[in-house]
Amino acid sequence: MTDTTSTDKAAFLAVVKKYEGVHDQSGTVALDPVNGPMIRHWAEAMGDTNPVYTDPEAAARTHFGEVVAPATMLQVWIMRGLTAGQVVNSATGELYKHFTDNGFGSVVATNCEQEYVRPLRLGEVVEYDQLIETVSDEKTTGLGTGHFITTLTNIFVNGDDGRELVGTHRFRILRYTPHKKKPKAAPTTPRPLRPRKVVNRDNQAYWDGVDAGKLLYQKCVECATPRFPFAPGCNNCASLEWEAVESAGKGVVYSHVTMHYPKFPAFDMPYAVGLIELDEGVRMLGNVLGIPHEDVRIGLRVELEFVTHDDELTVPAFRAVGEN
Ligand SMILES: [Zn+2]
Repeated sequence: MTDTTSTDKAAFLAVVKKYEGVHDQSGTVALDPVNGPMIRHWAEAMGDTNPVYTDPEAAARTHFGEVVAPATMLQVWIMRGLTAGQVVNSATGELYKHFTDNGFGSVVATNCEQEYVRPLRLGEVVEYDQLIETVSDEKTTGLGTGHFITTLTNIFVNGDDGRELVGTHRFRILRYTPHKKKPKAAPTTPRPLRPRKVVNRDNQAYWDGVDAGKLLYQKCVECATPRFPFAPGCNNCASLEWEAVESAGKGVVYSHVTMHYPKFPAFDMPYAVGLIELDEGVRMLGNVLGIPHEDVRIGLRVELEFVTHDDELTVPAFRAVGEN
């Protein structure tokens, strides 16, 4: 709506503001009852090992007396799925269509506030109502121009005494038109240099090796344990006696990430960084070369290649040489 007149904007705002205070989806029933398998998957994904969520015997000894669902799973029970459970012909759906039809096709969730009245127990079936609380005036944000929409979902369990409120879920989204991307101006300043290496007493020998075209790691003189990065003592036996050993520079990708942001001007984004496990048993970080970043895989075999970025900076990187 950024190209439209203020009259159009006012007319649009009048239409969408009418939805403030509208209730819909009254008594919509959850697709699944509160159940153990979903709780177990959630607890695993979150790394939450509290047995009150998964172990009936342990849960019986708590003040809950039985297994309960994690409170923060509240929204899980009311999700409608990607296709099968979509609520159609709801006031909220209608409101969203107004935004889409008027150029606010992008969406981002900005806030979520929940209140937990009591824990949910296995087998309970929740149902919910939704209230469209507010539709904001047009706002310009870092992402674009649009409107914030806040909905409040009240979640109930139907019991012998009627509907019991178990929690509330307030959700805010921004429906917006993204900012138009400005064409990139030609660079007027020389490209900044990459960060400088930091050489200290502990890693001096490593960087001396790089200067001599060698990739060095440390080996404990007492127990022969290899180590990297360079450090004064052995993690295995605490000996301070070590020798530098040259790696053959062959290994596999043990783990990797692709850097997209932030866009450091000294780097060609995006680029892959690998944690390389060398055949000698130590791991080190380096750019993965010779392959599109999205094709880098764990287990990919790589070989050392020194890359010179400028007069003062040469660093080891690793070139893909095929699957392990
Ligand atoms: Zn040792």
